[in-house]
Amino acid sequence: MELKTLTIKKFRTGLAKKEFSAAEATGEYLKQIKEKDAALGAYLSIFEEGALRAAVETDEKNAAGEKLPPLAGVPVALKDNMLFKGTKATSASKILEPYVSSYDGTAVKKLKASGAIILGKTNMDEFAMGSSTENSGFHPTKNPYDPSRVPGGSSGGSAAAVAAQMALGAFGSDTGGSIRQPAAFCGVVGFKPTYGAVSRFGLMAMSSSLDQIGPFARTVEDAEALFDAVRGRDGFDATSLALPEREPLTLEDLKGLRVGLPKEYFGEGLSAEVARGVEEAIGKLKKLGLNFKEMSLPHTRYALSTYYIVMPAEVSANLARFDGVRYPGLPEVEKEADALRDIYFKTRGRGFGAEVRRRILLGTFVLSAGYYDAYYAKAQKVRRLMSEDFEKAWSEVDVILTPVTPTTAFKFGEKTSNPLSMYLSDIFTIPANLAGLPALSMPVKGYPLGGKELPVGFQLMGPRLSDKKVLHIGKFYEQA
Ligand code: GLN
Repeated sequence: MELKTLTIKKFRTGLAKKEFSAAEATGEYLKQIKEKDAALGAYLSIFEEGALRAAVETDEKNAAGEKLPPLAGVPVALKDNMLFKGTKATSASKILEPYVSSYDGTAVKKLKASGAIILGKTNMDEFAMGSSTENSGFHPTKNPYDPSRVPGGSSGGSAAAVAAQMALGAFGSDTGGSIRQPAAFCGVVGFKPTYGAVSRFGLMAMSSSLDQIGPFARTVEDAEALFDAVRGRDGFDATSLALPEREPLTLEDLKGLRVGLPKEYFGEGLSAEVARGVEEAIGKLKKLGLNFKEMSLPHTRYALSTYYIVMPAEVSANLARFDGVRYPGLPEVEKEADALRDIYFKTRGRGFGAEVRRRILLGTFVLSAGYYDAYYAKAQKVRRLMSEDFEKAWSEVDVILTPVTPTTAFKFGEKTSNPLSMYLSDIFTIPANLAGLPALSMPVKGYPLGGKELPVGFQLMGPRLSDKKVLHIGKFYEQA
């Protein structure tokens, strides 16, 4: 049996029937990592010993006839901004290089309880700021489909790990597209849940009103299984919530479902390849009986500007804690600095990369007394208008379909000298974060893609709390 290509569903039945052991499966994924990751750079740390130990425990339970939890033995990877007790968590920043998590984040605790095996922590743009993983403080990650291209970001390591069969599933965080965009670039499924559906306790905060943890997988069905394992209300995160339980959609329910195509997402800047891919997806969904309708989300054009005010404002507050005192500082600063002020300046000046510093400065500016009303307060109002666009839309359509990204994966260095062009790669994903909506990014042609083609993804967004509906539509697309 090809362990590295199984879906979670097949993995479950295979393990229960003892067609393979959890230790064999974990061993196979660790072998894939050893063979491929030197070239791809998806991982920042690998837990060979811990992973194998956990797998052996699973096998012992299985041998003793114990009922296995839903993700028993499933080898997964975690983005490096998620806390996993006793292991390094750097958010790919030099400032946190020596840091070791002292507790498990809620999603990680739940994953462990559901039996998943944690293989390692994945590379990312520093503190999740970026769209290509080129902003990692350590090394870039390559796109498994074409190593001269980026895997997307900021969760590029998680997407590449799943695409290259170096993990069966993975987790990332999405603040403006960091799960969906790399999923699209790497030809895998990525899901950003409704804001609050997964607890953010133990996720390093970038922009607290936008951040959301979510899964990467090869199929939508697998993504749902990973999401189910981590979601739910959590006493440690006041914004967390439980989704209403609902019956799975049936094929019959799809007939007549109304899908909106917002015209703002199909205009200028959309590349021909992506437009063609999305057209193909629409064609397939029409055959399943879905009805498409053109519509408008008029405030979409302000999404990027709004995001680049709200997000840096929250970044500047959240990253203030990294001052060289409360978290382990840079060893050389400890030796040199003789005054507290000096510790702050040197730690933050040297420990943070250029993009992080840029955003802290922008955020501090938009929150400053003289500019707060002109920028931050105004952006909050526009954010509200964008949410209202969606609220109005839900009376006309059940879900909305759009491209995930304007282009397919771009080349290394193509956008690094111009931050604005990098920011534009999230133009279609940011609105779902600003409005807190669930959004699924899935490959038009499924996984894995053969030949030399680059993957293209499409996005399905639904009303708040409609996560399951969105996932189930994706599942039928995949089966078809
Ligand atoms: N690429 C976007 C940014 O740079 C989104 C990042 C994210 O979702 N974490 O902010």
